[in-house]
Amino acid sequence: MSLKKYIRDIQDFPKEGIVFKDITPLLIDPKARKECLELLVSSVKDKKIDKVIGAESRGFFFGMLLAEELNAGFVPVRKPNKLPFETISASYDLEYGTDSLEIHTDAIQKGDRVLIHDDVLATGGTAKAVCELVEKLGGVIVQCNFLMELTFLNGREKIAGNEIFAAINY
Ligand code: AMP
Repeated sequence: MSLKKYIRDIQDFPKEGIVFKDITPLLIDPKARKECLELLVSSVKDKKIDKVIGAESRGFFFGMLLAEELNAGFVPVRKPNKLPFETISASYDLEYGTDSLEIHTDAIQKGDRVLIHDDVLATGGTAKAVCELVEKLGGVIVQCNFLMELTFLNGREKIAGNEIFAAINY
């Protein structure tokens, strides 16, 4: 099955010039969703993952499914001021200005084997910030995985040195 069939291109969303990759057709179809999950799981099977990190917010969907399949903990990484406990943060560049992401300080223990998950690898800024958070807390990044990679944006260069897997490539 080609999973690309379940990704819908939305022109000029959320602003002009952006082709938004809408994953809701994938989420709504149990068969396609299962196939996508199996692809992601097979790439990290037997790698003893302790924690799966999902990046806000579309990384939460498959992040939680992955954690369940891998019998690992699930950790949300969120936009500023969303997490209630003690946090650390990492900032990343946007087209105009910067943004940041936060994680609870007790979410990762030193030496934890971590899988980082998000829906899209675009410029790589988000993934890089998540990697920084994991490293600050002493976690070991086993893989960064994504539903899809927009290869023409070279986001993987920003997280070079880490194993990277995407279920779909554009
Ligand atoms: P980046 O930091 O540039 O790699 O962007 C990754 C984050 O932005 C992910 O959390 C995605 O959800 C979102 N994102 C970036 N580009 C797109 C796109 N074309 N369609 C949907 N989401 C995107």
